[in-house]
Amino acid sequence: MESTTDQPVQLHGKMEYLHRKKAVGPIAERAFSRILEDNPDFLTIEDKLLQIANENASLKSRFARILRFADVIAAAISPHAGCKHACSSCCHISVGLSGAEAQIIGRAIGVEPATNVSSHGDREALVKHYFGEPCPFLSNGGCSIYDHRPVACRLHFSLDRDGYFCRTSIAPEESIVPNVNLESYWMIYGLIAAQMSRDEGDIRLFFPQGRQC
Ligand code: SF4
Ligand code: SF4
Repeated sequence: MESTTDQPVQLHGKMEYLHRKKAVGPIAERAFSRILEDNPDFLTIEDKLLQIANENASLKSRFARILRFADVIAAAISPHAGCKHACSSCCHISVGLSGAEAQIIGRAIGVEPATNVSSHGDREALVKHYFGEPCPFLSNGGCSIYDHRPVACRLHFSLDRDGYFCRTSIAPEESIVPNVNLESYWMIYGLIAAQMSRDEGDIRLFFPQGRQC
């Protein structure tokens, strides 16, 4: 009889992948429904962000409020996400931020961010380039700047039941990490950030040495 033991793990992995791929959509939809049940105002987030963006205040103050608003959004999503403590696969993917946010983080952690950073808006290239590469602030499996981490990290969740699709052993084009659609947040963030600095790119470009200068 022909041996079937040469690739048993790979076969199991593929079957598990197909099973998880089929299940992830309904799991994420249920998680999103629970977010809305617990946070009836969640769908008005865009209005609140527009209100902040149009306030009669300096760009700096409006941008700071937009950054802080990320924690309000995160607090609504977090209880319903599959993210677990000490889960750090998402610290091995590209983390995009603006020069304006890099300056704020830099001031908070005492590290001068690089300037003249530009990815020319090519998020796809950044995602591909940094896939699997640890963030310079990742230390012993945890974030060394947790209280000051970028909003891209604060708002990155998986609405799956765990981090199965977050693993970098699954190629980005085959991965499905469901998150809440936060396009309106990023649009308003981008509009204000672009008026403060032309820089934008991956966290590794702004802070190549992490906390060490
Ligand atoms: S800043 Fe912190 S949370 Fe964000 S990717 Fe880096 S180590 Fe992870
Ligand atoms: S997004 Fe994925 S890797 Fe990151 S904390 Fe959530 S489950 Fe873990």
